[in-house]
Amino acid sequence: MTPDDRLAAIHARIAAAARPAQRDPAQVTLVAVSKTHPAEAIRPLLGLGHRDFGENRVQEAQAKWPQLQEEFPDTRLHLVGQLQSNKAADAVALADAIHSVDRPSLVAALARAMDAQGRRPDCFVQVNIGAEPQKGGCAIADLPALLAEARAADLPVAGLMCVPPAAVEPAPYFALLARIARDSGVFALSMGMSDDLEQAVMLGATHVRVGSALFGARA
Ligand SMILES: *Cc1c(COP(=O)(O)O)cnc(C)c1O
Repeated sequence: MTPDDRLAAIHARIAAAARPAQRDPAQVTLVAVSKTHPAEAIRPLLGLGHRDFGENRVQEAQAKWPQLQEEFPDTRLHLVGQLQSNKAADAVALADAIHSVDRPSLVAALARAMDAQGRRPDCFVQVNIGAEPQKGGCAIADLPALLAEARAADLPVAGLMCVPPAAVEPAPYFALLARIARDSGVFALSMGMSDDLEQAVMLGATHVRVGSALFGARA
């Protein structure tokens, strides 16, 4: 498949899932997760007019994106991976959205960097929705306090993000994240990847993060 076919196929999947849910597919942002893929793999999508991209490592994003952003200035870069506090300033300088805000120390580091730079990328609070010890994300029980801290620090909190447990049906986790977001008064939902974007869109995802279905398998 060409990049053109792959992109069209993902948009078709989003549209097919939005229809029964009576959602407008235009309300779902497709974040093309280009981690591990070189600029040559990204340019065809930029050429097709796609503008939202995701990376999970700040250093890799710093190496790839400044050049591409110069060529396509309206690109929006989303950071989707676990973020160390000592990378917060670099993340704020580079990203338009940060999907992995998950602890008070990171909220504080991001707030300092945003104040210093006068730049305020949209923030998603990542929730460890399956309570998996090896995964990033804040515990559901800790979310109200973390959201309060983020708001007090003037972080622009757009919504919540999750990565459900692997190899089990993801829909209950997406539904849970949607309910928690509603209860918390936040709107955006970053959920759904290559294998489960339909369930996520039907349950209210505003951002799906799709890597391998667009770029092929990662090495
Ligand atoms: C890599 C990654 C994705 C994309 O995963 P695919 O299964 O390749 O679509 C989405 N979200 C996060 C947080 C990722 O790290």
